[in-house]
Amino acid sequence: MEDQLGSSIAVRLLPAPSWCAGASCNASAAIDFDGRSLCLDHFLPACIHELELRNARLRNLPFDAAATEEFKAFVTNCAQQAEKLAEKLVEKSADKLNEDARLRRAQAKTSLLDFLLRISQLTQQIRRSPRVTSSIAVWLRREDPHQTWHEETWTVSTSRHGAALLCRRPVEKGGTVVLCRKDKGSRATAQVVYSRRDSEGRKQIGIQFCDPINFWDLD
Ligand SMILES: [Zn+2]
Repeated sequence: MEDQLGSSIAVRLLPAPSWCAGASCNASAAIDFDGRSLCLDHFLPACIHELELRNARLRNLPFDAAATEEFKAFVTNCAQQAEKLAEKLVEKSADKLNEDARLRRAQAKTSLLDFLLRISQLTQQIRRSPRVTSSIAVWLRREDPHQTWHEETWTVSTSRHGAALLCRRPVEKGGTVVLCRKDKGSRATAQVVYSRRDSEGRKQIGIQFCDPINFWDLD
């Protein structure tokens, strides 16, 4: 499950009933979550956990439009599948159920509604646009005993925690770089959190400051 910002998890209702893959669970599965068939009780917490993890990861990185779009699509799909499940629960006529089954169904509906509420809260937390789309000129310096270089470049977007920058040199995820603002001369050490090509084919890196500082003078 590591480094999955760019990958998607499939969530869909199971066409045919099967058993839940949850540890020592005897319930029948209702939903396929990332290739595992899960019952409602196992699906809901697993799904919320994954959503919260991804949301936290996105918020800690410089704004990434593609990853944000993908996360939004994932959240929407989770909500749709949960809604379909809720509809299925209503379909079966209530008077054919015994007391126990009716109680279980009421509990299931309550958990589904809680789940959908949590999803709508999460949706509101998703960043809708870059905090600041900026172009601040910087000197970028790599200080490593084996690779020392610097280049003049600029930011694509900035946030409290870091920035996305264009970078022509090879720099791997986890590498340390020093940024120096050309306008103010202020310096900061940062860690590279991703390195990839943007939609225009330019090499872009995401960096995260090592210390909490307001390097970009954001409000
Ligand atoms: Zn289960």
